[in-house]
Parts: sequence; structure tokens; C-alpha cells
Amino acid sequence: MERIRNFCIIAHIDHGKSTLADRLLDITDAVPERERVEQILDTMDLERERGITIKAQAVRVLYNRPDGEWTLNLIDTPGHVDFAYEVSRAIAACEGALLVIDASQGIQAQTLANLYLAMEHDLEIIPVINKIDLPIADVAAVTEEITELLGVEEDEILKISAKTGEGVREVLNAIVDRIPAPQAAGEKTRALVFDSYYDPYRGVVALVRLFDGALRKGDEVRAFGSDERFEVLEVGCYSPRPTSLEELRPGEVGYIVAGLKDIEALRVGDTVTRADDPAEEPLPGYTRVPPTVFCGLYPTDPDDFERLRNALARLQLNDAALHFEPENTQLGFGFRCGFLGLLHMEIVQERLEREFGLELIATIPNVKYKVRVDGEEREITNPSELPDLFEEIREPVVRATIICPQEHVGAVMGLCHERRGISVGMEYISSMRVQLTYDLPLAEVVTDFFDALKSRTRGYASFDYEPRGYQAADLVKVEVLVAGDPLEALSMIVPRDRAAQRGRALVEKLKELIPRQQFQVPVQAAVGKRIVARENVRPYRKDVTAKCYGGDITRKRKLLEKQKAGKRRMKQVGKVEIPQEAFLAALRI
Ligand code: GDP
Ligand code: MG
Repeated sequence: MERIRNFCIIAHIDHGKSTLADRLLDITDAVPERERVEQILDTMDLERERGITIKAQAVRVLYNRPDGEWTLNLIDTPGHVDFAYEVSRAIAACEGALLVIDASQGIQAQTLANLYLAMEHDLEIIPVINKIDLPIADVAAVTEEITELLGVEEDEILKISAKTGEGVREVLNAIVDRIPAPQAAGEKTRALVFDSYYDPYRGVVALVRLFDGALRKGDEVRAFGSDERFEVLEVGCYSPRPTSLEELRPGEVGYIVAGLKDIEALRVGDTVTRADDPAEEPLPGYTRVPPTVFCGLYPTDPDDFERLRNALARLQLNDAALHFEPENTQLGFGFRCGFLGLLHMEIVQERLEREFGLELIATIPNVKYKVRVDGEEREITNPSELPDLFEEIREPVVRATIICPQEHVGAVMGLCHERRGISVGMEYISSMRVQLTYDLPLAEVVTDFFDALKSRTRGYASFDYEPRGYQAADLVKVEVLVAGDPLEALSMIVPRDRAAQRGRALVEKLKELIPRQQFQVPVQAAVGKRIVARENVRPYRKDVTAKCYGGDITRKRKLLEKQKAGKRRMKQVGKVEIPQEAFLAALRI
């Protein structure tokens, strides 16, 4: 155990975590030259393209230096707040962390979020300034920020270029010299599951860190959280290819093949022990992470409904945080889906479109509300379900950290104020850059907050948030009625004082988008029984073919065909047919 070091790399997105991981693997010759591809640890296409890590993974390398051979386990952590629970489990499997900071960017919001998680788990933190090769690198300024933040001496900070390899060997030495070796606490087997996935050939595979005892092929084991019993079919490690081993010993990191069909049986955060000689207590920290952001997903082509169901089920095999259930609105048959956060939602939508070739309509994302009706509390994940009468409504609130150069502070404060934010604090992290803390309703964050923040600060602000529970608010449901019939898919829950304005915007948009009919169509926005905005779509007069004089028959036929094709994408709402594009455009505002 004295020769093992378990560590992770934490960083703000794009600060060089994956590049550094690759360099560490190169130096330790983990991968033969001809098999090297960029960023070994980011396996999914989408991860590679978006430059984010979605699932935690672990790689074992051997590092040789004059004092012998050292086993280093690198545990890769997801880089985004939506996956904070997985980050915290991955961190719990380590004794130390490399905190990587871009020399041209300095400390950013996710640097802090991840650092705090690592500090909560008492990890040894090794600060690393990366990208010192960049002409715009400001190593002195970033050094100042880090010494201030961590209270470390300047000579404890490593200065490297993961791109050129400069300084990377010192990183390996620091891992060996500064990070403590793992220590066993008890006799009976306890392994922390810090990641798990479903493999179509081998069933559920769990990545584990052995805290106490050992695991071997053929062991009968039990998972504390799910209370599932199963036989271990194989144990091994990734180096970085899966390599099977005799056993996993205390302090070691590796995988176990469970052969189970259901990933729920072996979730991240669970503890595995021996069935015949179980430990008394699980390792700390098993929580079920509920979805926080919801939206409706509908296939553009109604015939794709079953394909969408199968695709969601396939994704769920490896992503128990994804929730879905069928729903039927004027958009047709689709699914109400629950996600960990906005990024999670975007990733799922993108995978459905890209990997399964589905064309989708997504409704505006919304959060989960807690509503008291007749003294009973109800949870509402679909705005159209909010009753007109209730005693109280509460919404989720988050604490947001925003870091930006001081010249953008005014713009950030303005934005947070518009989004019903309450300032909690503001401090300088260096002479030029400021950290602002706000409590914000999650509903205000899940729409376009991040885009607005980026555009108002010309991309110079970074942003992160964590949940802070529920808070009462004066919210109402705005419904859109077309010829008196509600368009459920467009219902929204908004602050009372913004209901009229938001309703008007929607109604004006729809008026332009709904084609004229044989009769006048009123388009209204209502709060309860009260109409807050109204427009009319005037009746239809002209015949599309009137201009063709009957002479040019091919042109006439073309026009009619075009009209027919358009019709197929119409959604019937009461007496009125609304083109799908109208829904889409309205969903976008
Ligand atoms: P991650 O999001 O933290 O995993 O960041 P990546 O490792 O994907 O790096 C983000 C970008 O920074 C990529 O384009 C890398 O090529 C680049 N990068 C990483 N390290 C360095 C470095 O030391 N110097 C320079 N110039 N670029 C780097
Ligand atoms: Mg990466």
C-alpha cells in the first residue's frame, strides 16, 4: 500500500485536465506509441467534441524512478456541476488532487467548486499552473491568486505546459512525494463504487476503490445501498486497457464485473462488501440524485415515438439520473424527461439526435415546484399541471458563483438583478478580478442565463452553482389559449409581476405564426380566468392557387403539393391547425 498513490485532476473546463492526463500516460509509457489518440480518457465522441468529461474513469500507471516503482491511479472526474455527485464520489476514492489552472485564465468558477469538494474530503491539493507556453500566460498573476486562495508558498506551485510536456515529470514526482499513501481502516471488505456502467456483453461493471479487505473473482458480494447480492465475475484494472487481475487489495483502484442487468443495483456511491463476512457499516455518502430540470421531448415525426422510447431506455442503462415518462399534449405523444441540470439535458438531446438519428422538439426547460393545495404538498414538474388555486408555491434556489474581470461587475450585477437574484457577497480574488455570489431561482438559470452572462461580459465570466433548497415565491401559471383551447405545451410558471409581459410576447409571436383560417382566431394569454394579452388572427381569404389562373397546371400542382406537405406537420388544437414550426418558434422565445 505504501507504493500506491490515488489522485484525481480537477480543473475548470478547458484548463488542460485531459491534456495533462495524456502527458502523464505518455511519460509512464502506459500506451504504446502507435495506439495513442488524443485524450484517451474522454471516450465518448460527444465528450471529445465538447471537451468535457461526463463519466469518471480510472487508469493505473507504473512510474519508475531511482527509488523504485510506484503505482499511480488516476481517477478522472466529470468536469461539470451537473455531475457534482459523481465528482464527489471520485474525489472520495483519492488521497490527493492536482488542481490545474490555466496560466492565461486564472482561477475560474469550477476551479473553486471542485477545489471545495476536494477540501471537504481532506485531499492533499497540488496546485499546477498549466499552459505556461502561451504568450498571454500571466504566471505571476495566477501565482498570486493561488497563494491567496490556498495559503500556500509560491514554491509549492508547479508550473507546466501539458502541451509541450515541460514540467510534467515534476508533477509525477509531486504525486509520489506529497500525496499520502492509502491506509486501511478495517479488516472486512469495503469497496466504494465511484463509477458504474452497463456493458452489453458483460452486464454492469463498477469502478471501485478498495478501502478495506480484498475482492477476487468468484467472491459472493453484496451492495449496501441496493441490498443486491451477486457474484464477482472478474476483477481488474485499466492500464489503460482493461486487464484482469487476481485480486484487488486495500488501497487499490480497479473494476469489478458484476454481470447484473440493472445499473440501479450498483450505483455510484454504493459500498460493496462480502456477502459471507460483511462489514458492519458502508463507506460514507450514498445519495440518490434527483432530477432538477425537466422538459418534454417529442419526435418531429409521430411515427418515431417507439424509437424515442427505446433510445431513452438505452441511454438510461448507463445513466440512472435520466428520468422519463410518456406524456401526450398537442405536440403529440412524447416524454416528460428529468435531468440533473442543463448540461445533462443538452447532452441527452444531442445524443438522441446524433446517436439514434431522431429529430426532436423540446419544450422550454422547467424546474420542479412544490405546491401546497388544501394543506397537502404536491410536486409539479410540468407547468400545465399547476392548479389555478393553491395556498403556496415554492421554487428551487441555487447559490451561484460568478468570476469576472472587474470592468464587467456592473453588467453581471444587472443581469443577476433582472433574474431575481439576491447578492450574497463580492470579493476580489486578485487586483483585477472579482468573485460575485448570488442566490438565484433555478428557473431563471435554466433558461438562457449562461448565454446572457457570456454575451454581457464578452465571454470573460465563468459561472457555477449549487442547490440551496426551496423558497416560497409569488408565481403564477400563464396559459396560452388559441380559439379558447389551451396550448398545454406552452404553459409556463412565471413571477406574477412578469406574467402580462411574458404572455404578451408569446401571443404576439403566435399571431404571426398561426396561419389564417376560415374564421377569426383569438390568441390569448391567461392567468387563471383573467386574460392578460389578446391578439386576433384574421380570417383567411386568398386561395393559394388564385394567382395561377388555371393556365400553368404544373405550377399549380406544385403549390398544392407544397401545401399538403406543410399540412402533415400540422398539430390540431381544438378547431385550429397550428404548424409545428409555430410551436418551435414560440418555444424558442
Ligand atoms: P480540459 O477541458 O480541462 O480537459 O482541457 P483540455 O485538456 O481538453 O485542453 C483544452 C485546450 O487547451 C485544448 O485545446 C488543449 O490543446 C489546450 N491545452 C492544454 N494544455 C495546454 C498547454 O499547456 N499549452 C497550450 N498552449 N495549450 C494547452
Ligand atoms: Mg477534458
